[in-house]
Amino acid sequence: MKKAAVHLKRLKRPEDFYPWLEKLPLEIPRDRPVVIKPNLVYPIGWRSGVVSDTRLVRQLIEWLKSKGAGTIVMAEGPGLGVDAGLAFEKSGFTALSRETGVPLIDLNRAERRPVDWPGGKIMLPAVLRDAYYVNLPKVKTHLNTLVTLGLKNQKGLLSPGDKKRFHKSGLHRPVAELLKASRPDLTILDGFVALEGDGPLAGGRPVRLGAVLAGTDPLAVDAVGCRLMGIDPLEVEHLRIAHEMGLGDLEPEIAGDRLEDCARKFKRPEMEMLRVMGLRNQRTPLACSLCGGAAREALFSSARNPAAWPRKLLPVLWRMVFGRIDFVYGHRAQVPEGAGQVVAVGECTKHLKDLPGVIWVEGCPPSPEMLAEAFARINKR
Ligand code: SF4
Repeated sequence: MKKAAVHLKRLKRPEDFYPWLEKLPLEIPRDRPVVIKPNLVYPIGWRSGVVSDTRLVRQLIEWLKSKGAGTIVMAEGPGLGVDAGLAFEKSGFTALSRETGVPLIDLNRAERRPVDWPGGKIMLPAVLRDAYYVNLPKVKTHLNTLVTLGLKNQKGLLSPGDKKRFHKSGLHRPVAELLKASRPDLTILDGFVALEGDGPLAGGRPVRLGAVLAGTDPLAVDAVGCRLMGIDPLEVEHLRIAHEMGLGDLEPEIAGDRLEDCARKFKRPEMEMLRVMGLRNQRTPLACSLCGGAAREALFSSARNPAAWPRKLLPVLWRMVFGRIDFVYGHRAQVPEGAGQVVAVGECTKHLKDLPGVIWVEGCPPSPEMLAEAFARINKR
């Protein structure tokens, strides 16, 4: 059987993206609308490595237009609890949409249609029907799934309810199965500014990798994306499951630049917990990224506001230095052995709320402001 091909390029400058796209042996249909699915999970700019790079997407749009593409739209459903308008604004995509005339659709509010799914139906965006679908993920490490590339980027297609359902089902298998229900025609991995360490949000560290990848086999593209980060694709459970389901190739041919000239060993995420003095960040593997990062965001937002220090920041710092504080997140979370002050975060931890000494913060996910407000309930004993 012929192997899948994945095209790899190390760009010296972002402006080199368009000339590379022009050389790809790809036909873009003129009679179908094109949907670009970037990664705009969180309100932050591309320099963070967290979200898609407007400089590349602008060139992608120009290239698609030059190939005769008809209607082009961008579509994304940011993470749970995120204000889509803010995410689009901060990432620069509202301006990009205005400047290019390409509409930007909030998939968290979009019209949906039922698609067959193992054990029932899943509601996918109607805009994808009959469209030529370009998936445009970032290259990032991820606290729950080790990496987030093309297959995982498809989670942004889901309704908020299905996003929660995916987390409660352990993420890997549903993410692999999603490829059966929704298969991109083209995947372009944006690793110009990638993210290593405790991704996929601002807990990770941006890395100027300069690499971009393209291919029509989504699994093959993800496999090479893993190798770019020095990670074996078989270590990533959803890629292994998708491969076992026969959904793609993990050993594709690489065309263009050599992998060894582009790859870099990425710092891996701390999969178990983050420890800073007496602070413990206790996530189950089922915790969503935004919930899992809530304590960090709440601490940072309190630190930026000196008026909040005595009431909100000092109680946490006191506990970190003179005791222990455990932030607990995710479906099926438990109070860990030897726990200090427990702050149980989000609806998934509601079963802990009446336990003695537990401060429970409601929400799915709770906002950083709600969590910071809960800090004020921590006593210094
Ligand atoms: S409470 Fe948090 S971890 Fe649980 S489903 Fe909601 S966002 Fe995800």
